[in-house]
Amino acid sequence: MKIGILAVQGAFIEHRKIMEKLGAECVEIRQKKDLDGIEGIILPGGESTVQGKLLNKLDIFTELKQKIENGLPVLATCAGLILLAQNIENDNVTHLATLPVTVRRNAYGRQLGSFVTNSNVGCVDNFPLVFIRAPYITDVSPDVEILTCVDSNIVGVKYRNQIGLAFHPEMTNDTRIHELFCREVEMASAGI
Ligand code: GLN
Repeated sequence: MKIGILAVQGAFIEHRKIMEKLGAECVEIRQKKDLDGIEGIILPGGESTVQGKLLNKLDIFTELKQKIENGLPVLATCAGLILLAQNIENDNVTHLATLPVTVRRNAYGRQLGSFVTNSNVGCVDNFPLVFIRAPYITDVSPDVEILTCVDSNIVGVKYRNQIGLAFHPEMTNDTRIHELFCREVEMASAGI
């Protein structure tokens, strides 16, 4: 299984380590041609404004958006979720805009907004959720599946081929969410 990991900025190494542990072949995406032949992509946490600008500058944007719209499985965490969101409540730009949700950036505050809690995420029970200057989701279109909420705020969703999480599963030793993503990629590759 060949997985692309967007590596223009942010916490991509942690995702790579987990995916390699799970037996995936990983390609760091820094230019358009790196997208060739990938069966899934991870959009890591970091700074969404910087990542969004780099997607354009490095000419990755259009091809990546098309691939996601055509069904490429995506696992997006934190800034990655912001890149996918169709609406950003407190920003005047959007980026890939393939996920029909509204996010609020730095929803827990900038400096003191980092914390850890536990919650079920879809069928994964009692998962450690690590939040780092995280967004949360303030609105979803009706066909978006809500995977998890914390204090009644939505922090994880699935929509078709896209999983968007406000927290960082790659910052834990728990690989269950990445395993789930691997199964999504396998199914997509098998045309299921
Ligand atoms: N605060 C960042 C942003 O708005 C996201 C933080 C993260 O990815 N840990 O882009």
